[in-house]
Amino acid sequence: MKQHASNEKNYLQRLRHSAAHLLAAAVLQLYPDAKPTIGPAIDDGFYYDFDFPEPVGEAELAAIEQKMHALLSRWKEFSHREVSPKEARAQFARNAYKLELIDELDQQKEAITLYTSGAFTDLCRGGHVEKPSEELQHFKLLSVAGAYWRGSEKNSMLTRIYGTAFSSKKELDEYLQMKEEAKKRDHKVLGPQLDLFTFSELVGSGLPLWTPKGMVIRSELDNFVWQLRQEKGYQRVEIPHITKKDLYETSGHWDKFKDELFRIVTREGHEFAMKPMNCPHHTQIFARKPHSYREMPQRYANTTMVYRDEQSGELAGLSRVRSITQDDAHVFCRPSQIKEEMFKIWDIIDTFYSAVGFDLDLRISLSDPAEPKKYLGKRDDWLVAEATLREMADERGVEAQEVEGEAAFYGPKLDFMARDALGREWQVATIQLDMNMPERFDLYCINESGEKERVVMIHAAIMGAIERYLSILIEHYAGAFPVWLSPVQVKILPISDKFLEYAHSVEKTLQEQGVRVELDERSERLSAKIRDAQLEKTPYMLVVGEKEQADNSVAVRTREGGAQEVLALDSFVEQVVREISERA
Ligand SMILES: [Zn+2]
Ligand SMILES: [Zn+2]
Repeated sequence: MKQHASNEKNYLQRLRHSAAHLLAAAVLQLYPDAKPTIGPAIDDGFYYDFDFPEPVGEAELAAIEQKMHALLSRWKEFSHREVSPKEARAQFARNAYKLELIDELDQQKEAITLYTSGAFTDLCRGGHVEKPSEELQHFKLLSVAGAYWRGSEKNSMLTRIYGTAFSSKKELDEYLQMKEEAKKRDHKVLGPQLDLFTFSELVGSGLPLWTPKGMVIRSELDNFVWQLRQEKGYQRVEIPHITKKDLYETSGHWDKFKDELFRIVTREGHEFAMKPMNCPHHTQIFARKPHSYREMPQRYANTTMVYRDEQSGELAGLSRVRSITQDDAHVFCRPSQIKEEMFKIWDIIDTFYSAVGFDLDLRISLSDPAEPKKYLGKRDDWLVAEATLREMADERGVEAQEVEGEAAFYGPKLDFMARDALGREWQVATIQLDMNMPERFDLYCINESGEKERVVMIHAAIMGAIERYLSILIEHYAGAFPVWLSPVQVKILPISDKFLEYAHSVEKTLQEQGVRVELDERSERLSAKIRDAQLEKTPYMLVVGEKEQADNSVAVRTREGGAQEVLALDSFVEQVVREISERA
């Protein structure tokens, strides 16, 4: 089954990369002076970067797509030949980008191959479908964006055309429909619309500001995680957001995070940094005193922000930010306690994600044996740690996908992938086993025989980056959060000002039960009040008028629409309070 899935992925990559060739061919027909650069397959499609002599935007995509279809019938196959650097340079004499690529291949003494289909020839390593005219029917150009040549802002800005391709019309249509739905749910649009967060030019990009409503959701989620952790014996700690350079030199972060560190020089000339991670600080809490084996494990929980200097071009809504809140925790334990502690975290993850309605897939993220330099510590320790994670998946009877090269630089991970309402997969929770940090900071406990015993460190985040997690959640729910997470759970809509007094008493009753409630006191028509509450995605609307006032009841409407139901106020309160406490 797994084999099959990976073959299919491979095929889609070849199909999409072939489509990139076809795109470049069509572009050259329509814009003979354009310079194609590179055109890889990506996760859900492909792109090709061009240097255009004139601006090309999304308005032009239809014509390019039409040209692609027109060319396709003559694309019977991809033929290829190896050429000398000299021949290659002659072929691409007018394209400085390709010449740069050829120079590099030449320097690295790599084979240079040209692939031709129809009348179009490109510099390429290969990886195409065999019969493009038959296989490459179902593609679509999607969007246009700017992209620097080779991702560096020092280089010229190119025009990137994105597209996708599938092996059947059905799959393509489904994908396009999903994209359409995703656009409606875009957290960058919905978030500000629902007044959950904002950005300020003065504060800077990638630095989201959380509004009162957004903060309600963050706190509810974080409190839930804390409640689950507390049940497993975690304790809260707190740390400053900056540190001396020395801490990161010891931990290895100074080296690994060099480019992403926000650095600070104090007035006395000392070098400090904003923390990009919390682990090194937490080691110093553990190291404050010797620990007997009886006190092990020590479990520290800390929801706090970390800071990474992402490039401005990479920032996107809440998905990629410079100030990241992590619901972080570190467990310091004896090697004999690893599995038990990791299973406890796994339990927390299971409970948390079933409450928010996500199915989880497990990925074991391993080191890349081909690149040992990327990782701290001894190879043997890594193999032991990696084997432990495999055993855990086996013991739980969970099928896991193993991925080499996805480990953290200090240890392998169990990563949990959530599938959202649109079928998209996101990496969310993570449990990381770390034998290196304790070595670097000389962390130990005193064992039964009075000797020092090296401890291990487990890093665990349930939501991971809360900003990114919220971007996923907003889109998963399309902004219609379940009652327990909704910033406003109940909105009271009096039919006219005459019933304001009763409306206030309903408001008070709900507030006393801890329900987040708002009263719409405007002298608007009822239909306008209902429409606004629906736009705000408030789960419950209570309409109150003469009849409701007379018999102490409320007419309940839900944001989904449907019939209005009259309930005694007490029964409604009881129902909504139960729904909130059960996180239904
Ligand atoms: Zn190619
Ligand atoms: Zn950590």
